[in-house]
Amino acid sequence: MAYQHILFAADFSDEALRVGERAKDIARQYGAQLNLIHVIEDVNIGLGGGYELLPVLPDLPDQALLEEARKALGEIARRLDMEGAEQWVVSALSTKEGILDAAREHGVDLIVVGSHGRHGLALLLGSTANAVLHGAPCDVLAVRI
Ligand code: AMP
Repeated sequence: MAYQHILFAADFSDEALRVGERAKDIARQYGAQLNLIHVIEDVNIGLGGGYELLPVLPDLPDQALLEEARKALGEIARRLDMEGAEQWVVSALSTKEGILDAAREHGVDLIVVGSHGRHGLALLLGSTANAVLHGAPCDVLAVRI
């Protein structure tokens, strides 16, 4: 099967570029579309935390944070020479959910993550890689870090 739509899940760790290089290589080999996603975990989403009662509804997530994340993801795309790729910054209750929702919505057929990022050094697979693998509607490549 030829992959047609690959999603590179980028965190902002030092290894992100290496994971991205692999995603790019595979996309090139298959002639697949390649997009990047970064998830901002937002614990307030879905909690029904009474935000509607506040006089001024806070921006969730914070606009400045969104802006910084967009810039950082753009910088990764630039360094990887992936200017043609769409860059998605989304907020979700968990990184896993953000990645999987986007994968389903856009008909992604391969998700590329790092085996470890910031959370997972003590684990065999980092927490995100593990969670994504278990819920994915498609293949998942965990690039060894
Ligand atoms: P970790 O769960 O921190 O071990 O991260 C493992 C891998 O999950 C990373 O190498 C990234 O590919 C991906 N990842 C972690 N955090 C995010 C995030 N906030 N947005 C997108 N991908 C992420």
